[in-house]
Amino acid sequence: MILEDLHSYRDACRGCGECLVNCRYMRFTRDQAVEEIRKINRGETASSRAVRDCMSCYACNRFCPNDAHPYERIHFAWDARYRQEGLPMRASYLMPGRRPNFRQDLPFSARERELHARWASDMPPARTCLYPGCNLLAMPLLATGAIFEVLPVWGRWDLCCGEMFFRMGLVEPVRGVAERLSSFYRDKPIDELVFVCPAGYNMFSHVLPEQFGAKFPFKITFFTDWFDHQLSRGRFNLSQGLSDAVVVHDSCHGRILGDAFMNGQREFLRKLGLRIHETGLNRTHGLCCGVAAGCNRYSLIDLVRWGYTALHTLEKAEGDEIAVYCTGCLLTLNIFHLLNPFGKRLVHLIEYTRAALGERVERRHTVKAVQMAAGIGIHALPHYLNPKRIKIS
Ligand code: SF4
Ligand code: SF4
Repeated sequence: MILEDLHSYRDACRGCGECLVNCRYMRFTRDQAVEEIRKINRGETASSRAVRDCMSCYACNRFCPNDAHPYERIHFAWDARYRQEGLPMRASYLMPGRRPNFRQDLPFSARERELHARWASDMPPARTCLYPGCNLLAMPLLATGAIFEVLPVWGRWDLCCGEMFFRMGLVEPVRGVAERLSSFYRDKPIDELVFVCPAGYNMFSHVLPEQFGAKFPFKITFFTDWFDHQLSRGRFNLSQGLSDAVVVHDSCHGRILGDAFMNGQREFLRKLGLRIHETGLNRTHGLCCGVAAGCNRYSLIDLVRWGYTALHTLEKAEGDEIAVYCTGCLLTLNIFHLLNPFGKRLVHLIEYTRAALGERVERRHTVKAVQMAAGIGIHALPHYLNPKRIKIS
């Protein structure tokens, strides 16, 4: 999101309003959408409802026929607001690198801490490794079992991909992440980094190199592609055909990675034996799990409102379980699942893969959700009326 990019995005914009008229959160008429885009292009962002109410779902970039990146242009207005005002204290608990924060300061078991320590080495344990990202670090037991003997996990908290900063439109912190990660990985003996989180995958493969100048001297692969390749080499055997009927939840980064990516996840789940159902609002028109929805106004109300709406939509669809392929969505939707504990189980694609290999997968999702909700209640809620502002160092 460098300034030159923003100018070129604005130049590419034809002012048609197609992006915002399709926004499922704000429900603009065509005229309103055109007027909103006009305000954004003129820098009249203080009076723009799109800038004020955007839920950061990423979809408008897909709706634009001219690749004019409306999403990033809305974010640029948020960056200006941040540079002028800083962030409210209640946002501190959601910021990677600040302590305490909602993922790193969960109460981890001895086994989880042992996994963190094993994954945190300075040098990679193999030429091909899995990048965990903050969400998987929050649920490390997910990445255990036979797959991760072949694909060792390598990563730690301070190698965060910066996705939270990006989603909040904080340009300088993302630039800092791009520089730090480029410097860390520059001389590392690694050929391929595999991602199981679409957010980290999109940050490493597109956002950081294309918009922030990061350089990563290795191949970047999504987990399902890597696993498919291993299957074709006969390295794993899907001994337990699954037969559950599942409804698929799409992640925001899946949306921006495109139909081929989102269809690929469905094909993979089918390969495991699962029967796929869809909600009426899926793929490009899918709903955010809630975490991005809280990014504009740093608002727990937005997060709960839209996260619960997403879960409710999935509950109403056919299918006995909810299949998610994003570790962030798994964490967040499980919090709302606490409000409806007898609803459909949320199951991550890795859990299905491990089950198809005949493994018993230990699930601690409810415990994590309770811990995370309690952390937010203790560390973020009391700051709602705190006038203090912070900057990310
Ligand atoms: S990012 Fe999503 S909520 Fe924001 S304007 Fe675009 S489509 Fe609407
Ligand atoms: S950003 Fe794209 S879709 Fe939106 S008004 Fe400009 S050209 Fe049209």
